[in-house]
Amino acid sequence: MESKQVHKSGFVNIIGLPNVGKSTLLNALLGEKLSIITKKAQTTRHRIHGILSEEHFQIVFSDTPGFIEKPAYKMQEEMNKYVASTFEDADMFLYITELGATIEKQENLYQGLVKSNTPVLLLINKIDKAKDEEEVDKYAAHWAEALPKAQIVYISALEKFNLQSIIDKILEALPEGPAYYDKDSISDKNERFFVTEIIREKLLDLYKQEIPYSCQVEIDEFIEEEHIDRIRATIYTERDTQKSIIIGKGGEAIKKLGTLARLDIEKFLDKKVYLELFVKVKENWRNDDMMLKYFGYKE
Ligand code: GDP
Ligand code: MG
Repeated sequence: MESKQVHKSGFVNIIGLPNVGKSTLLNALLGEKLSIITKKAQTTRHRIHGILSEEHFQIVFSDTPGFIEKPAYKMQEEMNKYVASTFEDADMFLYITELGATIEKQENLYQGLVKSNTPVLLLINKIDKAKDEEEVDKYAAHWAEALPKAQIVYISALEKFNLQSIIDKILEALPEGPAYYDKDSISDKNERFFVTEIIREKLLDLYKQEIPYSCQVEIDEFIEEEHIDRIRATIYTERDTQKSIIIGKGGEAIKKLGTLARLDIEKFLDKKVYLELFVKVKENWRNDDMMLKYFGYKE
């Protein structure tokens, strides 16, 4: 008898508190540097879709920004709406938590999962940091009781430990369905988006405190020539003082930013890149509805 393998597909939303390793996991699953990863919280602003396709399945992941308990800017309110939207359109949740992160600390997300009928795969991440097995088992038992419908898997996103069992469990849960995207794509975001993410990652690495969070990066021009891509981008910030810090004495700081960003963009595009950066002030953009629309945070 001929056994025909079915094609499965669906949307899997990765949720969890800031810094638990959502972006690291998505990148490890896809084997590409899709989401930006830094030690600072709140680095992912939009939902990022990553696509994993094989002959018999297509899994569309989205990586959500962390939920901000007390939004201080309109931008953060908009980000919270994105997070809320993840509870509406998923076939499965990958709920990531890490040792020591109590349920009380993630009440909002936890309640969202309890209410939803969508299957949950609870991933206990960073087990490479555990003292011993007992510590992990004890932590997992706490969750097994609080969220009995979830399946639990121990992982280390950083060390790529146990990632195959995530895929296996997802495939068990996903329905039969067609490929929603081209099987060659790894994301529905375009190259421009990733270029701005790389620049933002460097802002986060190089500048302190509020500066990176006050910035929005936009691509003004992206010209693809045969051997080089010419990219012109503008960094919008909120105040003149921030602008002069970003530029630095004699342009030193922005030069460093540009070089580091260019090297990563070249790796990402696998091509030589000429990168030109500008800095402009858009006062108080994070509270400005028009600018939020313009930057794509609002419909
Ligand atoms: P996100 O905010 O949930 O997207 O978290 P990120 O993926 O940006 O990761 C936050 C920090 O945790 C980074 O410094 C990662 O390198 C680190 N991290 C992520 N996964 C692991 C892991 O499995 N083990 C350890 N030790 N660190 C991890
Ligand atoms: Mg992230």
